[in-house]
Amino acid sequence: MCLKKMKLAVPILIAILPVRAAHAQRPCCGGPQPLTYWQLPENLNDLVLGYPPSTPATFTATVELIPIKLVFSDGNVSLDPTQPTCTTGTSALQLISNSPLFQPAPFFSNGQYLGTTQFIDAYQHANLGSAISASNHLLFNYRIYGSTSSDHVPSQVLVVPASEGFARPAGCSAAGVVSFSLLANFVNNIFPDLPANTIPVFLVYNTLLNKGSRASPLYEGGEHNYSGILGGPYAFSHFIDDHSIFDGIVSPPLSGNSSDVYSLSHELAELALNPHNNGTSPAWGNIGQFTGCTSVFEIGDPLSGVGFAQYLNGFTYHLTDLAFTSWFFREVPSQGVGGSYSFMGTLTAPASHCP
Ligand SMILES: [Zn+2]
Repeated sequence: MCLKKMKLAVPILIAILPVRAAHAQRPCCGGPQPLTYWQLPENLNDLVLGYPPSTPATFTATVELIPIKLVFSDGNVSLDPTQPTCTTGTSALQLISNSPLFQPAPFFSNGQYLGTTQFIDAYQHANLGSAISASNHLLFNYRIYGSTSSDHVPSQVLVVPASEGFARPAGCSAAGVVSFSLLANFVNNIFPDLPANTIPVFLVYNTLLNKGSRASPLYEGGEHNYSGILGGPYAFSHFIDDHSIFDGIVSPPLSGNSSDVYSLSHELAELALNPHNNGTSPAWGNIGQFTGCTSVFEIGDPLSGVGFAQYLNGFTYHLTDLAFTSWFFREVPSQGVGGSYSFMGTLTAPASHCP
């Protein structure tokens, strides 16, 4: 499901100024493995990515990172994930590749050291506690789309008409808003033949996706889904220089944790636990991004805006807190480490009944 949904406080059009905005390549392991799933015991509809927790083996899923350059025609502003950011001199794409989503980092959860591994693998060990084999791992590697001659790459540039989005100066760069339907149609049209067994992740830079209308926007930093566009699990996400670039565009403002790969950490984690986007749980709500009740099994949604910083490879990354399975299914005690109900320990008791 989608990430942060925010209503526009006041739709203000601001004059647009021009902005200044290498593919790294990591050949993967002799070809991606077919995506493999196990059944969540609490909800047999839900198929989780990877090998069953009791299996002492590593499943490595290949993420196809697909940068989309957005050109906002109303101000001649380009936001390109492959170009150096003005704050770091490194591209968003490179920062993502170097992040704890794809590289090992030391993780703790609720006072317990989980070892050095990728964030979502660390989450799964914290989430399942003693129920997961110490030798079971779900890891992600990445492949950058367009990096080999066999890729069908007609264009990774989307021109955003003024009717479909806008950009305004923000920080040392710019902040953009693009209609989600425009982006989704673009992706559907130009990437009909992505390699099998990979998980496409479409990346934009410093841009919010608008699933609502211009007059009544519904903003998100990313979303994941299944089959609707590409016949398998896939995600969209932005990378943003800093949460503050959207101040004045979204209200309330993005939380201080919401910078850089925060949205991608949310979407990739949810994609791992609910890859077919059909997992459900007992009704919960009135927490995180939901007002009212919902039954979606989306581990980031109760904790939208909550997160932590993790330094790795010369950069301070921001990652989301994630609810444990025991929170959704009201398991007492929690099977999670420390008896907690989320990775950071923000949730200390099972979900409340809703309504
Ligand atoms: Zn979500």
